[in-house]
Amino acid sequence: MQVGSKKSLFNMIPQPSPEATAAAWASTYFNVYSLMDAFGGKSLLVEQQVSGTISRWVDWNDAMGISCSGGKITILYALKSAISRLCPASIRHGLPNNLIILCSEGAHYCVEHVASMIGIGSTNCWRLKSDNEGKTTVESLKLALETALNKGKQIAAIICCGGTTINFNCEDTVTISTIVDQFIVHNKLNYRPYLHLDSVIGWLFFSLMNQHEDQLKTKINNDTIANKFQIVLKRLQGLAKFDSFGVDFHKNGLCPYSSSFFIGKDRRFMDELGDGNYQYSEQDFQYGNLCAYRYTLENSRPSHGILSSWVNLKSKGRLGMGEYLISLYQSRFNLEKKCKQ
Ligand SMILES: *Cc1c(COP(=O)(O)O)cnc(C)c1O
Repeated sequence: MQVGSKKSLFNMIPQPSPEATAAAWASTYFNVYSLMDAFGGKSLLVEQQVSGTISRWVDWNDAMGISCSGGKITILYALKSAISRLCPASIRHGLPNNLIILCSEGAHYCVEHVASMIGIGSTNCWRLKSDNEGKTTVESLKLALETALNKGKQIAAIICCGGTTINFNCEDTVTISTIVDQFIVHNKLNYRPYLHLDSVIGWLFFSLMNQHEDQLKTKINNDTIANKFQIVLKRLQGLAKFDSFGVDFHKNGLCPYSSSFFIGKDRRFMDELGDGNYQYSEQDFQYGNLCAYRYTLENSRPSHGILSSWVNLKSKGRLGMGEYLISLYQSRFNLEKKCKQ
């Protein structure tokens, strides 16, 4: 395939920006090692700068993140954090046998695999029925919550779609979190199921959040697209009630493979993803003390994803990222128009 061919359109394989590619190569050339900040240069700091930049777009001001190799790993981090939060004893002693996960019908096919790898088991992942707009129906969510309660199951997490590859299934996060919270109050549940938004594709919409409707319309300059954006942005408004989300820079952040981020609303994941023998404190954030390997899946860890995503965020800015997203929809719109002619 010709690099950058305007005729190439297949799944999520865009051409990375030259700047991001150079950054990835530079980090490889200098062999930056992001196991811990004592030998990682500032890679661990930049990792948090990338995480902080995106999370501030959605007003998550205490968020932290982990650079990882793919969206699948962001789901793994979410599920592991969820289990540890629900059953802290599981960190040292293993899983109870009544855990389940709920996810949207149109969620990525890797959710079951991750559930299996993590020890919950793929059949304990319950898919919820969606309507024809790709949103989980209120009835199916309520039914699943009640069934779980009646069967003595504990819902470790709910994995919600924040935009998917083929149909861009995107949950109404306000509805999901409201139903969950009402269910907790009504049934006096002593825990809150962990809410993760699988936004590895939809995250780019975060760059356009909290903008005035008219401002957005002017920027987009196409009513069909502007209306679509408004619907998606409205559905993402409930993110404030979520615990984590995922970002794939290699999908639509113009970075080479693979450069993903798991973003947690606060730093609790650092302990939740550990083995139970260490607790992070302020001391760990003194330069030279931070060790990522206690919470990351990898031990030796590359930093190309950290540097390339940072370079794109810096060179394009929030505005540039938003404009890129709009241009993707404009291309799609034009293509669709041409096909219909
Ligand atoms: C691509 C994708 C994943 C898996 O991400 P990888 O980066 O391929 O590991 C998970 N969820 C959604 C919605 C995706 O589009």
